[in-house]
Formats: sequence, structure tokens, C-alpha cells
Amino acid sequence: MRVEIKLRVIFKTPFCVGSGAMADSLAHKPMLKDAHRLPILPGSTLKGRLRHECERIVRSLTDDDNAVCHGPAPHGMCPLDPARLGHQDRKACPVCQVFGSPWLPSALRFSDLRWTLAEELADEPLPVTDLRYGVSLRRARRVAEEDRLFTTETFAPTRETTYVGQVVGHFPDDDSERYWQVALVLAGLRAITSLGGGRSRGLGWCHIEAQAYDVLDGDRFPIETPMVREELERWLHSMSR
Ligand SMILES: [Zn+2]
Repeated sequence: MRVEIKLRVIFKTPFCVGSGAMADSLAHKPMLKDAHRLPILPGSTLKGRLRHECERIVRSLTDDDNAVCHGPAPHGMCPLDPARLGHQDRKACPVCQVFGSPWLPSALRFSDLRWTLAEELADEPLPVTDLRYGVSLRRARRVAEEDRLFTTETFAPTRETTYVGQVVGHFPDDDSERYWQVALVLAGLRAITSLGGGRSRGLGWCHIEAQAYDVLDGDRFPIETPMVREELERWLHSMSR
């Protein structure tokens, strides 16, 4: 069954999402931009971050570090020994079942996210990105290193900057399987508090609004945050039977 999750990422601070920016690295790469030179938030960036959040959620719900495989090195990822995953038919941990692994296709397709024109800027020229300058210090000596002046490209046209996009997934037809998978993705999205680089310098703080819909009939998926734990626990219980 196809499920579409509509997303709104609301940034509270300027953000910097480079094509390869990791959680807290300094992005030397410029941001990806569309034909209007507006920064794009790559779907792959969101996917990587979301997977990390979902791993954290499953480990904390199960209180078991091995409930999820240990990426990103391929040899640490699913398929794992079925005995360790607790069920003969299972070849993958909960997170790989949804996000895939080097050997398993992902159920999810992430769109790139795009800025939604804020009403207050409707009659203005399109906004541009800013460059922030910084100097990295050699920790031990507290002196600036040569060639360590860096720039970070940021975007914050308004006090709150909203990006929209969607995730479309082919989820199992079985109701209970589908419910925990969609529940996990929604819980992960709602747990994200920052995206892109420079988090410790105040960049990229955000929250995400996410709502799931059945693609076929357009009905909203009746999963609210409190149900997530229930659905996941039910599924994990069925695994260990
Ligand atoms: Zn796995």
C-alpha cells in the first residue's frame, strides 16, 4: 500500500545544508540551489538524519542496543543472523525494513524539500543566501591557524523559514506491519530538532510537521504520536513470539 507523508520543516534559525553536510560539521560546500538560486534541502540529507532518529527510538523503546543493526559500515548492517533478530522469517531489523540496507531496497522515496514563499515576501525580489565568516582555532594554542578562515552559507529570509516536501513509501498490505512502520517514520520526523551543519553554533534548529495519507483514497493515516510506542511495542512483541 502506498502512503504519502507530507512534510513541513520549520527552521527557527538560519540553516546550512550542504550536499554532504553531516550533523555538526562545517559545510565548506555551497548549498544546492534551484533555477531561482534558492537553496534546496536534499531528500538524502533528511533521510540520513531520519534514519538516525529512528534507530535511536527503536533502541530506547526496546532498551536493547542490538535491536537495530550497526551501520553505516555495510558489514554491520542487515541481513544479520536471524537467530539474533529473534524470528526465523525476519532478515532485517525494524529500521532496515523501512530504510533499506546495502542489500535491501528501501521502502521510502524522499523528495527534495523546497522553500515556500512567505506571504510577507510575495512582492519582494527573491531572497538570497548569506555568507558567514569564521575562523577555526587550534585548540591547544588558541591561535588562528593559517588558511583556516572558513565561510558558511546560510539561508534565513524570514524569522521562520518553511520548507515543504514529501516522502512516499510502499508499505506492507498487512495492517499491523504497516502501522508500526508508518508510526516509526512519523515519530522519527517529529523527533528531529535540527538539520544541516553548525548546530552547535545555532544553525539549523527546526521542527517538522508530518502527516501521513493513504495515496489511494487520500484518507489521513490515523496515527498520532502517543500511538507510536504502542504500535512499535505490539510489533516487537509479535517478533519475539
Ligand atoms: Zn538493520
